[in-house]
Amino acid sequence: MSVILALWRLNRVSVRRKGIVYEYVAYARSESKPNTLYHSVIRVAVSPSLRTSLLSFTCECDAFVYGLLCKHVRALYNKAIKDIRSRLKYDFPIPEGDVA
Ligand SMILES: [Zn+2]
Repeated sequence: MSVILALWRLNRVSVRRKGIVYEYVAYARSESKPNTLYHSVIRVAVSPSLRTSLLSFTCECDAFVYGLLCKHVRALYNKAIKDIRSRLKYDFPIPEGDVA
């Protein structure tokens, strides 16, 4: 069963010459605490050469408090990468009029 229960793409949060930043929000299931969901948010940057990188992340779980990259963020990032790959042909190359 997936760690990620629900996933939303909050569209493109910024478009620049250096690429696009996408924000994703999810509820992730805790594997150690029953009936516990964590709210996780990540921003993923995609460069004009289509390289993806994790720009920032937050999660409500204990690991995040210690500054660790938790399994919820990892799972969300993996889902985000798949979603972004399916969108590349629509979002890239960045139309000239879209560049801020
Ligand atoms: Zn977490």
